[in-house]
Amino acid sequence: MRIDLHSHTHLSDGTQSPTELVHAAREAGLDVLALTDHDTFVGWDEAARAATQVGLTLVRGVEISTILDGHGVHLLAYLPDPGHEGIRTGLEAVLRARNDRLPTILERLAAVDVLITPEDVAEVAGDTVAVGRPHVADALVAAGVVAHRGEAFRRYLGPGGKAFVPRTAADLWEMVAQVEEAGGVSVLAHPWGRGAEQVLDAAAFRRLKEHGLTGIEVDHEDHGARERAELRAIAADLDLVVTGSSDHHGEGKIGHALGCNTTDPEQYARLIAAAESAALRAGRTTPAVIG
Ligand code: AMP
Ligand code: ZN
Ligand code: FE
Ligand code: FE
Repeated sequence: MRIDLHSHTHLSDGTQSPTELVHAAREAGLDVLALTDHDTFVGWDEAARAATQVGLTLVRGVEISTILDGHGVHLLAYLPDPGHEGIRTGLEAVLRARNDRLPTILERLAAVDVLITPEDVAEVAGDTVAVGRPHVADALVAAGVVAHRGEAFRRYLGPGGKAFVPRTAADLWEMVAQVEEAGGVSVLAHPWGRGAEQVLDAAAFRRLKEHGLTGIEVDHEDHGARERAELRAIAADLDLVVTGSSDHHGEGKIGHALGCNTTDPEQYARLIAAAESAALRAGRTTPAVIG
C-alpha cells in the first residue's frame, strides 16, 4: 500500500486540476492520496468524482495557514466537516489576508524596479481561490526576472527578500481546536521545514498533543535524515501518528513527485480511526474516505 497524505492543485498553488492530480496519483502507483490544498475545500468534489472513477482511495483535507509566536505553521486537517462555522470563518480570514497583501508586494517590487501588474499575476494564477506569493513568483518567472519559484522566494518574496510582506494567519491553537470540533484530525505539516523549527520543539509538540493534535508529518522533503529521526522519536514518545507525503504541487515545486515520501499503512489506519472517533465525539457528519 502506497499512501501519500499531502498534495495540492491549481485551486491553491499547485499546477494540476483535481482530476489531473488524481489520475497522476494513480499513474504514480499510489493507493491512497490526500488532497490538501491551502486554506480551501473547493477541489474536494471534483477530486472525489475522479477518485471514484479511477479507483483511488481519497482522503479529503486542507492545509491551514496558521501562526505560532509570529512564525508561520502549516496545519494539515483531514476529514473535517467543511460546513463547520469555525473552520469556515478561519479559512475565509486567511484567504482575505493573502489576497489583501498582494498590492503591497507589487509596490515593494516596483520600488526595486521590478514591474509586475495585478493582471500579470492573475494570468498565471488561473482559477486559484487565493492569490499568494507562489503566483507572484510564477509572474516573475513568466517575466524572465527569475528562473524558478525558488529563486523568486530567495531574492524577493521570502523572509529577507526585497519584497517580503508578512501576513496574518489563523492562530495555531485555535485551529487545532476548531479542527477537532469539526470532527476532523490535525497533523503538523513539515514542522521542521522552512521557518517554524524555532518554535516547534518537543515541549510545543507535547502541549499541542494535549490540545488535540493527532500527528506530525515526519517524512517530508524539507526534513533531512537527522530531523526525521528526531521527529520520529518525539512522535513515539508522545504517541503521535507519524505521516509521510510528497507535498506535491504539480510543476510548481521541484523534487516533490507524488509518492516520493509515503505513510506507513499502520499509521494511516491510526489516523483514520482517530478521525472516526473525532467525528463521533463532535457529533458531526464528516466526509467519508472515498474508495
Ligand atoms: P503565501 O500563502 O502567499 O504566504 O505563500 C506561501 C506558499 O508559498 C507556501 O505554502 C509554499 O507553497 C510556497 N513557498 C514558500 N516558500 C517557497 C520557496 N522557497 N519556494 C517555492 N515555494 C515556496
Ligand atoms: Zn503550497
Ligand atoms: Fe506547507
Ligand atoms: Fe503543502
